[in-house]
Amino acid sequence: MKKLLIKILSLTVVVTSMLFVGTACKGLLKPEIDLEPEHVCEYTKTVVPPTCTEQGYTLYQCECNKSYQDEHVAALGHSFTNYTSNNNATCTEDGTKTAVCDRNDCNVVDTIVDPDTALGHSFTNYTSNNDATIEADGTKTATCDRDGCIEMDTITDEGSKLVHNDNGGGDFDIEDPDWMD
Ligand SMILES: [Zn+2]
Ligand SMILES: [Zn+2]
Ligand SMILES: [Zn+2]
Repeated sequence: MKKLLIKILSLTVVVTSMLFVGTACKGLLKPEIDLEPEHVCEYTKTVVPPTCTEQGYTLYQCECNKSYQDEHVAALGHSFTNYTSNNNATCTEDGTKTAVCDRNDCNVVDTIVDPDTALGHSFTNYTSNNDATIEADGTKTATCDRDGCIEMDTITDEGSKLVHNDNGGGDFDIEDPDWMD
């Protein structure tokens, strides 16, 4: 009876110690794995916004230098809103206007036709062509005032018709200063 009890007791000890050893083994093995851990990438996200011409994306980077891009976003395209006239319209041709892209750090310029800016000719200083007759008004001609324009305009010189001189019937007029010369 006593023998049996000892047997049971010792068996219990053995089983317990085996359990202990098992636990101890596990406890020993685990740190061994941790000493040389298999690298699992941990990525940090950096959002790179799109620009006028380049698409945006999210950059994923691990400290082991592995990286990749994802979540691409289309390029924005330029934004031209504030056009300034180049003051180069002529009498017959529309001028141009230029804008600089509104977006940060983009200096791309856009020059387009500025519609309906042609100036039209400017005729102000008309000179008589001295071609008036007794029957009809003469004409007068002006050259366009604007720089570089040689367009001429000839129109009727209203009221220039020569007044018929009854005195002497076409003979020399003593008072005529032209004749005096
Ligand atoms: Zn990594
Ligand atoms: Zn731009
Ligand atoms: Zn002109």
